[in-house]
Amino acid sequence: MRAPAAFLGHGSPMNAIEQNRYTAAWRRFGRACGVPRGVLCISAHWFTESSAVTAMAQPRTIHDFYGFPQELNDYRYPAPGSPELAAEVAGLLRPEDVRPDSTWGLDHGTWSVLTHAFPAADVPVVQLAINAHHSFEHHMELGRQLAPLRDSGVVIVGSGNLVHNLGRLDWSAPEAAFDWAERFETRARAAILDAPGDAASLGNAPDYRMAAPTPEHFIPLLYFAALAEAAAESAQVLVDGFAYGSISMTSFALGMSPES
Ligand code: ZN
Repeated sequence: MRAPAAFLGHGSPMNAIEQNRYTAAWRRFGRACGVPRGVLCISAHWFTESSAVTAMAQPRTIHDFYGFPQELNDYRYPAPGSPELAAEVAGLLRPEDVRPDSTWGLDHGTWSVLTHAFPAADVPVVQLAINAHHSFEHHMELGRQLAPLRDSGVVIVGSGNLVHNLGRLDWSAPEAAFDWAERFETRARAAILDAPGDAASLGNAPDYRMAAPTPEHFIPLLYFAALAEAAAESAQVLVDGFAYGSISMTSFALGMSPES
């Protein structure tokens, strides 16, 4: 059985400790996964100068944000790591030089969604860094190379937001979208559902610069698109919506049965 995969639009770190229709969708995804061998997460919040994979047996919970309640700063997601899975990921990505990392851990892009998808924190979790020097095509190539992991029971999750412009947040409109955000989201959604192999070209779309003034929240979507392409599977929209005008909360899944 091929394990499911997802792109989860994580939004605010507060989603870790709140219950809403997005967190409900992440829980639905987790239930559809059963008990996987492991989870490989590509999080927007590990955007680095080189290629790396977390290889510690017990990754720490990283609180990489400021100005949130103490409850969130105290939150821990104690899932184990897996040095074996980390080595497998590095092997699949060769000739890319993927360094085994012992300093990072699980950042909030990972734990804010996995605490809903796998609330028991008993599935080993490994994070793959996003190498900031790579082109979108290169990221998609790495995504294709990861595809065999799904066939051995590893769930792959990209965690970002397909529109993410913090400079344009409209605090008066918690569920609205700016026109440009909606246009880009519509285009990206069509690409993911109908032509995922072309997802890298979204970087040339007219509204891309507004949707992703920095690329780190967008790139995890490219890994998901590459997995959809590699498996010749149709993605489904797990949940959609906007937050504060300039954040898309849309999530996609692969390999989930329609009734789950
Ligand atoms: Zn984020």
